[in-house]
Amino acid sequence: MTRGAEPSEQASGEHAPVAPDWTCGSCGHDWPCDTKRDRLLHEYRADRASLSVYLGSCLAAASHDLRAAPTAALQDRFIGWVPRGPRIA
Ligand SMILES: [Zn+2]
Repeated sequence: MTRGAEPSEQASGEHAPVAPDWTCGSCGHDWPCDTKRDRLLHEYRADRASLSVYLGSCLAAASHDLRAAPTAALQDRFIGWVPRGPRIA
């Protein structure tokens, strides 16, 4: 058992992002990976607005870490995959 200073939420199977590369801590794909996307959609199924806010904050942090990456590509990766549901308002 090795326990570092990392927050314990980084459990295996968590599919949490690993900065500064923003790869998935569980499967190693670009974050959010397919598994994480499924989970996020499920988690925020009743509150798509909050999902957008969350992903927006991730995008902001990732933009800071991944300066070499084109902004459009990052936006597509972090936010572009979210299906547009019917507008309620
Ligand atoms: Zn993953």
